[in-house]
Amino acid sequence: MSASELSLVRPASLAEAVAQVENGARALAGGTDLVPLLRDGLVRADTLVDVRAALPRGIQGTRIGAGTTLADLERSEEVPRALREACRLAASPQLRNMGTIGGNLRQATRCWYWRLGFPCFLHGGDRCHARAGEHREHAIFGNERCASAHPSDPAAALLALCATVETDRRAIPIVELFRLPTDDERDVVALEPGELILSLDVPAPDASVYLKAMDRRRFAFALVGVAAARFGGEVRLGLAGVAPIPWLLAGPEGLDEATPLPGTAYKVQIARALLGRALDAVAPG
Ligand SMILES: Cc1cc2nc3c(=O)[nH]c(=O)nc-3n(C[C@H](O)[C@H](O)[C@H](O)COP(=O)(O)OP(=O)(O)OC[C@H]3O[C@@H](n4cnc5c(N)ncnc54)[C@H](O)[C@@H]3O)c2cc1C
Ligand code: SF4
Repeated sequence: MSASELSLVRPASLAEAVAQVENGARALAGGTDLVPLLRDGLVRADTLVDVRAALPRGIQGTRIGAGTTLADLERSEEVPRALREACRLAASPQLRNMGTIGGNLRQATRCWYWRLGFPCFLHGGDRCHARAGEHREHAIFGNERCASAHPSDPAAALLALCATVETDRRAIPIVELFRLPTDDERDVVALEPGELILSLDVPAPDASVYLKAMDRRRFAFALVGVAAARFGGEVRLGLAGVAPIPWLLAGPEGLDEATPLPGTAYKVQIARALLGRALDAVAPG
């Protein structure tokens, strides 16, 4: 179906938006990821539902509306530092002004084979073209079937911060929102068809930080992103750019279990360096 045959609906209420998405329409928030995918034929839809006016937006204590933009988050003192910094270091100012946190968690992989429409494992095929091909920006964990590197900086921060995602039908700990693709289920986001993210609950840590290594200083996806959050004596670590999903690391020793590809071994060294700095940054006193 060509883009010109698409219908766009603008629901007047959240209930209407939920009903439209449940009926098979595709949620459109800032459109920064979805519109290029529709243009390139990687996502197909008959109807788009503009959910921006319907979704909760803004920050109230630990609750963040799914329609809150990354720009809103990076500016808010109410938001834990790791999430603020992850948003500030993502994309460009223009994209952060449009892109919502809900859409960011649902964004598609940046793997160039996938984006070029190669019939790879994530597209439902039987092989990963990146493993034997160009994979400098790919994964060092969980990369047996699909070696893509999850692109979301905020998701790594939310993982460290132990956030919970509220949808129109349930509450999901962020660690369960993402799953490695399997033969039976290729989608890395564990939302049901038509399930809409409405808000996030983000506990306030005692200290948190997000550090990101990029090919250039601004406007690049993470080669490695490291979030650390300390709750009392416990430090949680979330990594971006290292696995097909945001990666929870039990501790620095977890890096010894990395399974890098020939072209991604350098990421283990970067992760080790960032982890050391992140742990120092959240250490008490
Ligand atoms: C050039 C470029 C560079 C980027 N760099 C970075 C980066 O460095 N770091 C980073 O983290 N991100 C980066 N991004 C990703 C960007 O942050 C996301 O595209 C953006 O946050 C998506 O939000 P959106 O509101 O525009 O989503 P949309 O494009 O509107 O939607 C994206 C997907 O989410 C679904 N969706 C939207 N809202 C909801 C909801 N509430 N519930 C369920 N599903 C929903 C849509 O149906 C669609 O499938 C970059 C993007 C681009 C284009
Ligand atoms: S890394 Fe994943 S998305 Fe990329 S080619 Fe391999 S299976 Fe496809």
